[in-house]
Amino acid sequence: MYKLIELPYAQDALEPVISAQTLSFHHGKHLQTYVDNLNKLLPGSGMEDKTLEEIVATSSGAIFNNAGQILNHNMYFTQFASPAESDASLRILKQIEEQWGSLSAFQAEFEAKGVGLFGNGWVWLSAQSDGKLVITQETNAGNPVTKGLKPLLTFDVWEHAYYLDYQNRRAAHLSALWRIVNWKVIEERYK
Ligand code: MN
Repeated sequence: MYKLIELPYAQDALEPVISAQTLSFHHGKHLQTYVDNLNKLLPGSGMEDKTLEEIVATSSGAIFNNAGQILNHNMYFTQFASPAESDASLRILKQIEEQWGSLSAFQAEFEAKGVGLFGNGWVWLSAQSDGKLVITQETNAGNPVTKGLKPLLTFDVWEHAYYLDYQNRRAAHLSALWRIVNWKVIEERYK
């Protein structure tokens, strides 16, 4: 049985970037629904003992959609913290600077890929097996583990992630999210 993950911060900790109201619907309703659905689908599927990553990498259809959305949201919600300074000494930030020239150049490409994603989906920063970083777009419940990549950071571009706070302004939402990214978590995922 999968359980809804607990948020590692208070419901209003990410304001004004993500409101407590958005968080309560996004975490308490949307993610809860994916958890409930997967728990109904898994019995008898032969996947009961697999990890979420294994299920996402090997399944399809309704199981993939619900497991993918749980994995994606678990990574999404746990990568944030109250607005804080980033630590430039982190290896992940050095690697970003080496490949993109600057953090802001990387952020511009990441945001553009999020804005340019048609419909529902996720924009991802992932690591290849050689440690090089790549930005990819995934539609619907997609996750880069299906391409053999190690997912590190993700922005949810489904409308439920931002519509209450930003309405149709997806670009404004994505550019605001950098203020709450907890780079120490991304660094841990990169190890
Ligand atoms: Mn979402």
